[in-house]
Amino acid sequence: MGAPEAFTRTTDVGHWIGGQPVAGSGGRSQAVYNPATGAVARQVLLGSVADVDAAVAAAAAAFPAWADTPPIRRARVLNTFLALMNQHRDTLAAMITAEHGKVFTDAQGEVTRGIEIVEFACGIPQLLKGGFTDQVSTGIDNWTLRQPLGVVAGITPFNFPCMVPAWMFPVALACGNTFVLKPSERDPSPSLFMAELLRQAGLPDGVFNVVQGDKTVVDALLSHPDVKALSFVGSTPIAQYIYETGAHHGKRVQALGGAKNHMVVMPDADIEQTVDALIGAAYGSAGERCMAISVAVLVGDVADQIVPLLAERARALKIRNGMELDAEMGPIVTKQALERIEGYIALGVEEGARLVVDGRGFKVPGHEQGFFTGGTLFDHVTPQMRIYKEEIFGPVLACVRAKDFAEAVQLVNDHEFGNGVACYTRDGNVAREFARRIQVGMVGINVPIPVPMAWHGFGGWKRSLFGDVHAYGEEGVRFYTKQKSIMQRWPASTPKGAEFAMPTAK
Ligand code: NAD
Repeated sequence: MGAPEAFTRTTDVGHWIGGQPVAGSGGRSQAVYNPATGAVARQVLLGSVADVDAAVAAAAAAFPAWADTPPIRRARVLNTFLALMNQHRDTLAAMITAEHGKVFTDAQGEVTRGIEIVEFACGIPQLLKGGFTDQVSTGIDNWTLRQPLGVVAGITPFNFPCMVPAWMFPVALACGNTFVLKPSERDPSPSLFMAELLRQAGLPDGVFNVVQGDKTVVDALLSHPDVKALSFVGSTPIAQYIYETGAHHGKRVQALGGAKNHMVVMPDADIEQTVDALIGAAYGSAGERCMAISVAVLVGDVADQIVPLLAERARALKIRNGMELDAEMGPIVTKQALERIEGYIALGVEEGARLVVDGRGFKVPGHEQGFFTGGTLFDHVTPQMRIYKEEIFGPVLACVRAKDFAEAVQLVNDHEFGNGVACYTRDGNVAREFARRIQVGMVGINVPIPVPMAWHGFGGWKRSLFGDVHAYGEEGVRFYTKQKSIMQRWPASTPKGAEFAMPTAK
């Protein structure tokens, strides 16, 4: 692969309402940085309540016709969008790298995982097929179907500016809803680009809208009477706020929150594979993944073999501008996030963990103002420490030692988060027991980052998800539709006389 073309647009990033780009009436803007250089690359316009009203009005106006469009025709629009996403995959990936910082090949992978949800959503005619029972009573049939909700909204985090919106809108649109997306203000460009691709694909105006912004926009969506459902992905305190406030306003809400994902390493694990998996899962995307592994639970004497190998690899990470094709890890998204991460490293030292590799103060030659930190490795971390309990969301791996399998499982189950988890072992029975007993939503057996495929649905347990259905897959279809049951009888078979007893099969 040749060097990819960098994304260099300098114009302001605005909203997308009623099928076209608009500047809105917010009058406020915020800098969007290139994290690799530390320079302000462009401004994002922050929406107002009036912008939300305009977007919801456009979506509400577009809803009846879109909901009435046969599912197969909605799927055809998504099929064209799918082709455009494939065609522009590298443009999107370069946009992601420019605003998020993750390395280009990782950004390509993100776009691909988003594309897979579009592929899933193209199968909507089959997914919306209802259930039918002939002759529930003499001359009576009963069937169920699923209908769209109306205007639905998505609020997304910075760490997957293409994939996480794509967890939501392809399924929501396929089901016949219209959509308002509020992307992260840190990397707003990919959403706007996808809006343009949806327009090119033939999506009617108003069916998909984007309002950039911050809490003002989120709060306006939360209380807007025409917004019927909200999907949120982000940190746990905000997820809880969205869930509670959305429910207060009578909306259906799914709110996916933060994580602290453990990898349990059994003494019989393949050491080389385990080290590869831990390095990739802890430091890939600079640890800014909700499925990143941030805790290695080393069982028995495996720690003494693994920690020195991890240290060697963490020191050797190729950390540079994500557009350089041999980069393994890019910068952190913002200076504030970098300071928070390095603050946690100082805290870990204070708390008495052994700092094996210190990533603080890492500089990339030629990118001295970039938001870089190195890979950090702690050993002898204990469950009482804040660096164990709290989500750091950076390239910091904490090694905890456990005496046996039972203690390792207990540790994971006691943690407040339950997003992802992995177990490395060569023992099938241990793997089976682990998968059954662990209180976590997504489990990997010798798979470090078990992000479910498009048709399986994504969601954690405990404080990693507020709500009862997961994102995308059949759960996503269920979230974005409501069930209707229809019971039918035609006059010829209607018996004479009123019935006062509960109807039963006759
Ligand atoms: P965040 O919670 O700061 O922001 C998420 C969204 O909420 C953004 O659109 C933001 O503008 C908005 N927001 C922020 N503060 C708000 C407030 N006070 N009121 C209303 N809205 C507000 O999260 P982030 O830093 O963008 O993303 C990282 C977090 O997301 C991590 O905690 C990570 O674990 C989590 N995440 C979870 C999943 C998952 O599937 N569970 C996936 C990706 C990221």
